[in-house]
Amino acid sequence: MTDTRDCDEPLKGFGVDIGGSGIKAATVDLRTGDLIGDRDKILTPQPSTPDAVAEVVRQLADNAEWDGPIGITVPAVVRDQVTRSAANIDSAWIGTDVQELFSRHLDGRKVSVLNDADAAGIAETTYGAEEAKSGPVILLTFGTGIGSAMLIDGELYPNSELGHLPYGATTAEKWASSAVKEREDLSYKEWAKRVNGVMLSYEALFSPQTFIVGGGISRKADKWIPHLDLNASVVPATFRNQAGIIGAALAVYSGLQP
Ligand code: BGC
Repeated sequence: MTDTRDCDEPLKGFGVDIGGSGIKAATVDLRTGDLIGDRDKILTPQPSTPDAVAEVVRQLADNAEWDGPIGITVPAVVRDQVTRSAANIDSAWIGTDVQELFSRHLDGRKVSVLNDADAAGIAETTYGAEEAKSGPVILLTFGTGIGSAMLIDGELYPNSELGHLPYGATTAEKWASSAVKEREDLSYKEWAKRVNGVMLSYEALFSPQTFIVGGGISRKADKWIPHLDLNASVVPATFRNQAGIIGAALAVYSGLQP
């Protein structure tokens, strides 16, 4: 990943994190990963078609008076800048050429589009805890779904989609996302038991040294991480729910276009 820490001058980037319920954006200091100013958020339009969402991205950039390059995350597989899946977003995203889409809505400016959890992964490995920087690391984001980023010594293996791993009669994210915790009104302990089961499967398959857990619910990490019992160490994401925005801004700065 590009080294952004070799001088003191501010280096601004802009990241947008598209989720199933909200689209969040902020200006980011690419030397530190810190947000500059407040994060902005607009509810995801319904239906969340590519054109409707791209207009919101434009609105967020206009609100911030940002006319430079934009890094954008989507909750989907992105290969060759084409979205290939759509689990928690309108199915019209499948097969969308995201360079064409955003170039049309953003006056041809430079964009990088990548998976939301992958963006969080590169933010954590670049600016986060030491444990995120070396060895085999799996970052998981718990939200509407379960996102994943697989990292080895700071390098990303993109589009891992571990939330869709079959789990019993269902899938990991349908069993243990934080949306499921809400929907079924599970206590932290009950939910952590489900999360532990899913993470044990990941551990059996990939033997990571460290799991990093992110998403909104990582703000309450002390309520559920202590209930987990795994061989790998588990650390909360340094940037919690902002990691996607930060990683998006970093991706476009670094020229990363999976
Ligand atoms: C999607 C992933 C995404 C995750 C978190 C899953 O349903 O398939 O691409 O990273 O949700 O948003």
